[in-house]
Amino acid sequence: MDSLNFKNYLELCRRLGIRYVSARTPEKNETVSEPKPETVSTAPKPGLVSTMLESVKISEIPSLATLEGPKWLSASDRTDRAKRLMAFDASICQCQKCPLGKTRNHFVFGSGNPEARVLFVGEAPGADEDAQGLPFVGKAGQLLTKIIESTKAFKREDVFIANVLKCRPPGNRTPQPEEVEQCRPYLEEQIKIIQPLLIMALGASAAQALLKTKDAVGKLRNRWHDYGGIPLRVTYHPAALLRFEGYKKDVWEDMKEFTAKYQEFPQNQQ
Ligand code: URA
Repeated sequence: MDSLNFKNYLELCRRLGIRYVSARTPEKNETVSEPKPETVSTAPKPGLVSTMLESVKISEIPSLATLEGPKWLSASDRTDRAKRLMAFDASICQCQKCPLGKTRNHFVFGSGNPEARVLFVGEAPGADEDAQGLPFVGKAGQLLTKIIESTKAFKREDVFIANVLKCRPPGNRTPQPEEVEQCRPYLEEQIKIIQPLLIMALGASAAQALLKTKDAVGKLRNRWHDYGGIPLRVTYHPAALLRFEGYKKDVWEDMKEFTAKYQEFPQNQQ
């Protein structure tokens, strides 16, 4: 703490995203609340944030002026939407509403550009995502990046990617209905903040949660749906594509329709 005053310390935590990615389950009796700036004039009290920060060497920290926002953010943290998303993340990242809160390593809020015009929604974090605190960073994630960028209309860092569940179901099992019910409001709020022009639901869990249906992807794809006024398309989950290459053509067709619709919006015409 020597060369950092407390105000900078809090700012640093926010900008490094430490608070956001450190949402492990607190130990019994562990203090998780940050000390209030006005009540602390010297070093912060021991707690989750300060414990995390102690593992960061001051000499390795770039100057505050060059730091960007939390690691899930791929654009400026200064916009109104970015601030609202960061505040929302901070307000839910300690969630214990369902038992997955006890088994997760990281709460996976989502990632991308808060100003994104398109939103991709997956099922739930897997092992890699749980380890890193970011969505779609494993094999399926790499394929998703390829799918997104193959359109030439989008880059991964320009879109926003979120999941129905923010915590990993053990062994990557399918989310249970109660988990979806508990977690869906988080996704709904993210959509309210981002206000994307279009949504792509990846796989059955996302499509069924967003459209409140039990229909299979095969029945839901190939047409437009309406999510509160936002056109929504359904395609196969990249993990399904990894298991069954035969879906490749369908996913490509779905992405072509999605891109064409995107380009119909006046603000996206060149
Ligand atoms: N599968 C998902 O649905 N989401 C992820 O974040 C990773 C894999």
